[in-house]
Order: sequence, then structure tokens, then C-alpha cells
Amino acid sequence: MIEIEVKVRADHSKARPILDKIGAIKIGVESQSDIYFAVPYRDFAKTDEALRIRSLDGKAVLTYKGPKLDSVSKTRKEFETPVDEAATIEILHALGFSEAGVVRKKREVFSAGEITVCLDAVEELGEFLEVEIMAESENEFEASRAKLFKLLNQFGAGEEDSIRTSYLEMVLEKSKS
Ligand code: ATP
Ligand code: CA
Ligand code: CA
Repeated sequence: MIEIEVKVRADHSKARPILDKIGAIKIGVESQSDIYFAVPYRDFAKTDEALRIRSLDGKAVLTYKGPKLDSVSKTRKEFETPVDEAATIEILHALGFSEAGVVRKKREVFSAGEITVCLDAVEELGEFLEVEIMAESENEFEASRAKLFKLLNQFGAGEEDSIRTSYLEMVLEKSKS
């Protein structure tokens, strides 16, 4: 799948009435704990890739994300599969992969037509809003990105507000200071 996503800082108390106004439907709330891995033969911070185990509600999902495909949004290939968390950590360690960092957040998920809106309250970082379309191919990517920015406009945000730094990078940056 192709992930077409835009992330902005957002005050959730201001975003909620707008979600109501546009008729977004609340899908659920998740407490997510993400362990990101680093591999010895590549620097994911440079290549813009990601290997992660996300645990939520007793389940775990392994995700690989490919490099970003454009300079404004966070569009990239993404593959996901359910896994056993403990076994997968053992396998990745045995292969020489190490843990790069952990990101914890509460994520409220809303559906606004084909767009998924997430209100993320990230530990140590604060409140964010992400809008996302998952597409089968890269063909629709520019049209999808335009739809995302059109929706973000309703929240008073534009291209200049788009954050391409990952939560992991922000958490790692914060732990340095
Ligand atoms: P999702 O949208 O899949 O739910 P998320 O919103 O929790 O994820 P994002 O910040 O959107 O988190 O994406 C995770 C990011 O972490 C990716 O952009 C990836 O490139 C970045 N990342 C992964 N591993 C590393 C690493 N070792 N160093 C720096 N950045 C990394
Ligand atoms: Ca996403
Ligand atoms: Ca994201």
C-alpha cells in the first residue's frame, strides 16, 4: 500500500468541533506503543525508512515503511503484518537489529470519507493531527495529497504547517536536550 499522510501540530480542543462540523465519524481510540529498530547496514534516519513493532490492546503489528516519495507530505510504501511481539523482538535482535527508540501515544481515529483523521497525544511531545489516505498505487498520489490539504484547510492548517519529522526523531531530539 502507499501511505499518503500529512502531520501538523494541533490543539485537540479546537480540532474536535471541526471534526463534528465536517461529519467525521469516530472509529476508536488506541494506546499505541511503538518500538523502532535500527539495522547495522543502513541508517534509517538518512534513508527515511522505518522498521517498527507497534503494540496496541494486546496485539502487535510489524511495519516497514519505505523512503518518502515527495517533499511536502509523508507519502511512502508501507507493509504491515500481525506478529507475536516477544518472538519478533527476539528475531530482530538475533539478526543484529537494535532498538532505536520508543514512541507512546493515545490515538483517536476518525473517518472523514476516504480520509482517516488521527488526533495524536504523544508522550513528551504534545498534540498533533494527522490526515491520511491509503492508496493501492502511486497514481492517485497527487490527487490524494490535494484532498488532504483541502481537509486540513478546514482546521486552519496549510502546507507551511506540514511536519515531515517523525515522532521518533522528535522524541530522540527531545531526549538529547
Ligand atoms: P503511523 O502513521 O504509521 O501510525 P506514526 O504516526 O506513529 O506512524 P510517524 O512519525 O508518522 O509515526 O512515522 C514513523 C517515522 O519514524 C517514520 O517516518 C520513519 O521514517 C521514522 N524512523 C524510523 N526509524 C528511524 C530511525 N532509526 N531514525 C530516525 N527516524 C526513524
Ligand atoms: Ca500513517
Ligand atoms: Ca504518521
